[in-house]
Amino acid sequence: MKSIYFDNAATTKLDDEVLKEMIPYLKENYGNASSIYKLGRESRKAVEDSREKIAKVLNCKLDEIYFTVGGSESDNTAIKGIARANKKKGNHIITSKIEHPAVLETCKQLEKEGFEITYISVDENGRVDLEELKKSIKPTTILITIMFANNEIGTIQPIEEIGKVAKENNIYFHTDAVQAIGSIKIDVQKLNIDSLSLSGHKFYGPKGIGALYVKTGVKFAKFIDGGHQERNKRAGTENVAGIVGIGKAIELAYENLDEHNKKIKELRDYYVEQVQEKIRYIKINGDMEKRLLGNSNISFRFIEGEGLLLNLDLKGICASSGSACTSGSLDPSHVLLAIGLSHEIAHGSLRITIGKYNTKEEIDYLVENLVEIVNRLRKMSPLWEKFIEEENK
Ligand SMILES: *Cc1c(COP(=O)(O)O)cnc(C)c1O
Repeated sequence: MKSIYFDNAATTKLDDEVLKEMIPYLKENYGNASSIYKLGRESRKAVEDSREKIAKVLNCKLDEIYFTVGGSESDNTAIKGIARANKKKGNHIITSKIEHPAVLETCKQLEKEGFEITYISVDENGRVDLEELKKSIKPTTILITIMFANNEIGTIQPIEEIGKVAKENNIYFHTDAVQAIGSIKIDVQKLNIDSLSLSGHKFYGPKGIGALYVKTGVKFAKFIDGGHQERNKRAGTENVAGIVGIGKAIELAYENLDEHNKKIKELRDYYVEQVQEKIRYIKINGDMEKRLLGNSNISFRFIEGEGLLLNLDLKGICASSGSACTSGSLDPSHVLLAIGLSHEIAHGSLRITIGKYNTKEEIDYLVENLVEIVNRLRKMSPLWEKFIEEENK
């Protein structure tokens, strides 16, 4: 059976055009980018061309881009690096309750090192409260780290406003933009962003390659010790093929952005409309307007998300009940709890994230199976039976 892929927030399929650009650097152009002979210089050129493509999209300088192995490393480097290098100025960091584990766990680690972290709350749509943000600023605050867009519910944060608050208070602002890159135009200067994380495999590039933007003048401690690569900030022989891949992927994403977004939005809206029409007792999670176009997160009452996923998998459908990192544990998603869902409702949530390779036929197949599975699982639930009896009284 063919896999029908609706988990584009977890990862995306490598674009063939990206692969094509990468292959020479996995084969004949294998030189170390630090070597001085021609084979090495060719790799160096490929690395710098890719850096230029990323810098162009973000509207920053070339030497403000550092290559890493992915979103998690970029977040760790920025947050730990800025915290440790600016400890003399203060030890307070502000983040939100709905960050990706790459940020939340990094903050927890910093707490063990003596930093104080404030986790600000979000409203029922997952938007951070700017007033709470302002109120939580202290003389010791050195960093605000708030994600651009959430990986589970798709909510987009008021990044420009947060950037303004940070600038006015002379605090560094880091944003995890791993979900946003490839669907939103981001100008780091206009938005007052001091550092930003991105990851190739979230926009049809390869896995194991990411980038970090850090504004000139922002002090950060290096995260990987070793050789002098990446201007002494990130040791390790460059993953030249991966770097070529992420450059090509970001270029493609922004070349076709409007067209891509239009298609994704149409499919997502069609999916949500179909579910609303065909399945009762659901709750749509996340902000309706300020949200990633490919994301939908819907809770189905009287349903266990895990059961839903297993049944969809039997039909070849790939989806997620929270984030891939938290499934496998029985705790409901921290994001869904933070927007105020009860444990019961949070447990019955399904994240469908649509990508550029999805079609309307695939959505029809998904909805058809979803309706059948939800009806069947509900019939097996004693709570549902009781609920329906009450409803029909
Ligand atoms: C996927 C993701 C990450 C982690 O990126 P990796 O490249 O897998 O390490 C971080 N933050 C967000 C919001 C993500 O969606």
